[in-house]
Amino acid sequence: MRYLITGGAGFIGSHLADALLARGDEVIVLDDLSTGRHDNILTHSGNPKFEFVLGSILNADLVDDVVGRVDEVFHLAAAVGVNLIVERPLESLATNIRGSEVVLEKAHKHGRPILVTSTSEIYGKNTSDSLGEEDDRILGSPLKTRWSYSEAKAIEEVLAYTYWKNKGLPTRIVRLFNTVGPRQVGHYGMVVPRFIDSALKGQPITVYGDGTQTRCFGHISDIVVGLIAIADSPKTIGQAINLGNTFEISILDLAKLIIKELESKSEIVFVPYDQAYEAGFEDMERRVPNVDKAKKFVQWEPTKTLKNIIDDVSADLISRIK
Ligand code: UDP
Repeated sequence: MRYLITGGAGFIGSHLADALLARGDEVIVLDDLSTGRHDNILTHSGNPKFEFVLGSILNADLVDDVVGRVDEVFHLAAAVGVNLIVERPLESLATNIRGSEVVLEKAHKHGRPILVTSTSEIYGKNTSDSLGEEDDRILGSPLKTRWSYSEAKAIEEVLAYTYWKNKGLPTRIVRLFNTVGPRQVGHYGMVVPRFIDSALKGQPITVYGDGTQTRCFGHISDIVVGLIAIADSPKTIGQAINLGNTFEISILDLAKLIIKELESKSEIVFVPYDQAYEAGFEDMERRVPNVDKAKKFVQWEPTKTLKNIIDDVSADLISRIK
């Protein structure tokens, strides 16, 4: 099979490219390197089964060309990370809404199955113990920039679902919960590489708010296995499926755990949300996935622990500092 991965030079996309190439498939990566990094895919340069195309999903002619040359599409290109969304809301909206529309339109034109990656931001402020795919979305005012990411990704989901429902295009939606691992960088907000980077350097670890907010962190290797299993299964067409780890930890406990595991001398500093992001910023208190559907459809379950994540991310950061 030949796959297109939009956003394939990014953290998740590049790991997906590695896995597809490792099983013998061919991969075309389309990435504008806005947040993706060429370094992430450097190991494949010269591989005849791999092609890198530099460009944006907003370039309809380019998307038309690459979609036409593959059997199936993984659409991962997006503006991600709360920092980026808050700092560059218009650009993020264009990429996430218009860009996704272009990719879906071209997948439909060429009749290519497509898996779109959505996000747990979809659920907004819903603090349920176990967020299932049919659960309600609870969002703040659209005037609070943070929620624009949730809105944009919801529109992408509706588009993908409607292309399946009304036009019969085989589409799949995967909602990714917080995903972490080697190659992820902290510039765009992501808490785990930020904390580990600070801990390794002995610099203060900045906990936003009071640190009682919780998250569940999935290891990239588990998530990639899930993405491929969902794309491979004929049963998942027209479905939205959560992928994430269910182990819940508060951000303050995460900071303490990282300090302990890395035997760091870093101190913990609390930063008000207004300072960390923008005035009136609303965080999500909690975000715990229900992954029963992934288990039912593709027998997927997370296997890696938070300790595995901390070990792998710190080893990666240390190798890059050297
Ligand atoms: N966070 C933090 N310090 C940081 C970066 C993030 O306390 O340096 C918090 C952030 O406010 C949120 C959680 O960690 O409550 C997860 O943030 P991230 O941006 O990784 O993901 P998301 O908010 O999308 O879950």
